Amino acid sequence: MADQVLIRAEDYQIPVKAIREAFQYIGHKYDTITGIPKMNEPTSIQAKCLICDKIYPYQSPSCGGVSNLMRHLKKYHPGKSEELQIKQAASKEKSKALLQSWVNSKEVKYQPTDVQQSRFNKSLMYCIAKDKLPMSLGNSKGFQNVRTTLDPKIVIPSRSTIQRRFKKEHENSVVPNLKRILKSVDKGIVYLDGWKSRRKDGILAFKFHFIDECWNLRCLTIGIREINVSQTGEAIRKYFDALMTELNLGEKVALVMTDSGSNMIKAFKAPTRNNQVDDADDETDSDEDVVIEDAEMLSDEITLYCDSDSDDEYNDVEGEIE
Ligand SMILES: [Zn+2]
Repeated sequence: MADQVLIRAEDYQIPVKAIREAFQYIGHKYDTITGIPKMNEPTSIQAKCLICDKIYPYQSPSCGGVSNLMRHLKKYHPGKSEELQIKQAASKEKSKALLQSWVNSKEVKYQPTDVQQSRFNKSLMYCIAKDKLPMSLGNSKGFQNVRTTLDPKIVIPSRSTIQRRFKKEHENSVVPNLKRILKSVDKGIVYLDGWKSRRKDGILAFKFHFIDECWNLRCLTIGIREINVSQTGEAIRKYFDALMTELNLGEKVALVMTDSGSNMIKAFKAPTRNNQVDDADDETDSDEDVVIEDAEMLSDEITLYCDSDSDDEYNDVEGEIE
């Protein structure tokens, strides 16, 4: 009775996929007293050859595996044995290729939070802003090539991502930093000019010239505004006043410098300083403690980035304003 082989099917399948085409799992030997299948005992698993219906025992992988079944196939059904060996080799090759492509696609790129990646993101934005390059720079074939030569793991952000980051940077860092610098200024000169972009947008830009605490002559771009209404004297004055209020510069403007366009002259003909800046507002606006993330990147010129597709605009000075 003790020698009787008792077989019971478990939730199990033959471990080698190719072998499953030639053999069918029948069941495990199991302990009649405990009812536990004898998983690791030599020759404890039974399989039926699908070609000759013979039942063969084999071992679980930890005890030597399916070599018994392979031997049977090789001896009695050499054609099937060869077929399965070819299939097995092909599937090994395929999984190797799959692994390789996974390694290439995933492993080789930086995570968005990687230090190297975020340093690249910042320097790309700096490059675009400083050299007045289009925000679609990352899409260009030449730049893609630069990336692969430098570090193929770098991921180039899309145009819209860059645009979004610029907006955020502008709100969270550029403007607060500009306000912080201007807060310590005593007096300065506003220079403004207007022109039409290549896209025919009316542009009004403001610079602020002043001498800082260390006696350095400074010139900051303090605002670039898109004006798509007729650039009359009133309109220009309205934008000027709004910017002075926004930056708390009202009382610090010693002089306004423009070209001799009649609209410009009209805007500032009777210079009335905008002295109505509320002191309380002044305090709350400029006392913000803003952490500047990237101090080493700040240069003397603070550019308020504008969404423009032209870098020739600066050459196109006179005569465009109505
Ligand atoms: Zn057989």
